[in-house]
Amino acid sequence: MTKMVFILLDGLRHGTARDCLGYMEGLVAAGEAQVYEVRSELPSISRPLYETLMSGLPPVVHGVTSNAVVRRSKVRNVFSLATEAGLATAAAAYHWYFELYNQAPFSPEFRHVEDFPGDIRHGSFYWADPYPDDHLFADADVLIRRHDPDFLLLHPMNIDDAGHRYGGASREYRNAARNAGDLLARYLPQWRQAGYAVLVTSDHGMSDDGSHGGPHETETHVPLYTVGADVFTLAPDAKPAQTDIAGLACAVLGIADHGLPVPEGVLRSEGRGHGRA
Ligand SMILES: [Zn+2]
Repeated sequence: MTKMVFILLDGLRHGTARDCLGYMEGLVAAGEAQVYEVRSELPSISRPLYETLMSGLPPVVHGVTSNAVVRRSKVRNVFSLATEAGLATAAAAYHWYFELYNQAPFSPEFRHVEDFPGDIRHGSFYWADPYPDDHLFADADVLIRRHDPDFLLLHPMNIDDAGHRYGGASREYRNAARNAGDLLARYLPQWRQAGYAVLVTSDHGMSDDGSHGGPHETETHVPLYTVGADVFTLAPDAKPAQTDIAGLACAVLGIADHGLPVPEGVLRSEGRGHGRA
């Protein structure tokens, strides 16, 4: 198995990622990362797609069809499967993740949890959309240093927040993406050094109107970067679906019999983070 940092940059459309995430594009150019265009499931809104990214099921199947559906997940997901496999889980994420995989409703007493008896064992959770991305990356780094989790979710909100305020075609939206790109450049080298494979994607995009929810390509086309070709990669011409991403994470984590779809052409290493399969 290989440890994984799963980074969900909320509300980042594909074209903006390709234009603004300079470090990620540098990794792609150097052959150290791969990038794919993924189409989100529908509706293209947050809480339903958080559950899709963790469960491999579309919202019409897993049942979290609206942001207003506030309850724990009822289906198997990366956090529950990792916990059952005895892996240590962690998240620096919006509080809706706490509600999906630990307990609903969230309250501020759960801002930081250690050894919580849910499927996210260690966590830092926030509830204000402008909570600074640089603080959240630092929160994630603390979780990694303190707990050495096998699976960590990092979920910043500032890109989505800028998109809602100024629209998906605005300089503010693009600059929020550039800021996240710089944070990736600051932290990914040391997390890779610590043995983590890294996956960077988004739940949904952002319309020029400053919202999302429907099938338009600005709202549904999102990036998927995979970093760690020594432990996992997809065929160069692969067209992964958003519902493939949970299974991909489980495959990298070495979870047997997870039962989730996995995109074709995934290479898996047998060892812990070394050697090609
Ligand atoms: Zn949003």
